[in-house]
Amino acid sequence: MKSEATASELENILELHGVTRRSFMKLCGAIVAAAGVSGLTVPRVAQALEQSVIGAKEGNLYPVIWLEGASCTGCTEAFAQLRVPDPASLILEMISLNYNDVLSAGAGESLEEAKSQTIAAGNYILVYEGGILQEWGGYATRIGGRPSTEILTEAARDANAVVALGSCAVNGGWMAAHPNPSNACGVQQYLTQAGISTPVVNVPGCPANPEWLVSILTDVVVMNSLPQLNDQNKPASLFDQTIHDLCPRRGHFENGEFVRQYGTKEESENYCLYAMGCRGPQTRAACPITLYNDRRSWCVDAGAPCIGCCEANPNDPGDNWVEVNAPFANRHRKLRIGDWQFEPQTLCLAITGILAVCLVIHGFGMKKAGRLDGNVRFEKKRRWDAKHPDRSIGDYDEPLTIIHEDGTKETVPAGTNLPGVPESDEAWKKQHAAQVAAKKADKKGGRK
Ligand code: SF4
Ligand code: SF4
Repeated sequence: MKSEATASELENILELHGVTRRSFMKLCGAIVAAAGVSGLTVPRVAQALEQSVIGAKEGNLYPVIWLEGASCTGCTEAFAQLRVPDPASLILEMISLNYNDVLSAGAGESLEEAKSQTIAAGNYILVYEGGILQEWGGYATRIGGRPSTEILTEAARDANAVVALGSCAVNGGWMAAHPNPSNACGVQQYLTQAGISTPVVNVPGCPANPEWLVSILTDVVVMNSLPQLNDQNKPASLFDQTIHDLCPRRGHFENGEFVRQYGTKEESENYCLYAMGCRGPQTRAACPITLYNDRRSWCVDAGAPCIGCCEANPNDPGDNWVEVNAPFANRHRKLRIGDWQFEPQTLCLAITGILAVCLVIHGFGMKKAGRLDGNVRFEKKRRWDAKHPDRSIGDYDEPLTIIHEDGTKETVPAGTNLPGVPESDEAWKKQHAAQVAAKKADKKGGRK
């Protein structure tokens, strides 16, 4: 009886949002497949969502505080573009967004008061967007005269979890690119330094896909657990496979079919964008599965190479997508030694040039030393040392022990010409020519 009432109540709510039961179940499937709610099936997610929707209707909303650090608010903008009415918006109605600089209707002291009350009540989620600018005491970004670092510390300490949303929040993003004058870093690194142990879920992307945030909130709000995280504290189901492995153009890559110029037949046939700089092979994210813009399309599908915006190492601000991947149109990143940047091809050419010069110098040296006559002859004493006895750097004319074929040993005094080694260059040349002639004769004899 109770379940019938719940089902019809849910249908009323869905209807109010213009959502059909079919699209609701489709959403549940998408959550299980793409967002990876731990170990659940579609019917279980559907049941959990139904119960939560009813709970939300009864006023049990999950409080969320959304703070901005150094950001362009692009992640907020992407989140706000979730189509309404939409199944995802239904889930978002299970949360109470108590504070958001951009979206909240309130402002000033009343909004700050709402945040303080939420923190004091506890049991909330903190979403943090933007990088942490540590330089200048954190005052480069401030609200109400307080540095954003202080605001983050205060809000993160008692949160159930912090979602670092977008690549800037994960590791400072483009602000952390060399030379990083503001000493930008990500939320995880900053909180670790501050000794705050609240779990951090890193969700990179520029902007982060709003559907990913919805899936994480679903995990937390509906299932009361965090998603399974990988070693960089990113949801494993979203960030453990490369774009390349999931890309529908992968077959063209395997066949060696590439777009090398826009406006060509290859481009119109959706060939692989690797040659145009696509960073799909080194970028881990589920973009080809979850898609953007209400699950319509994604970068490569729209004809643009992936620029690897989801690559962000939370433990290393220097390992950010701009620093590692720019310039985006090139296949390879630039190499850096201090402030000096250069293309990998430049390094290869420089090494090849140096080797070529060394070989030429070596060749001239060999020629000058008379060692280009087909073989290298043994020298009793190096010519240079013989000519410059006063500047010799060592004694090369030491006694030499020779082992004969029958195993007997013979010590030859220093300065002795070795058996079989001609005294003069002329004699050496004659002996060498005779050896070559004998070898040729042997070969001819062998052929007969
Ligand atoms: S377009 Fe990019 S991600 Fe897709 S197959 Fe080519 S290189 Fe891989
Ligand atoms: S496909 Fe690449 S550039 Fe596009 S959103 Fe995903 S990670 Fe970023």
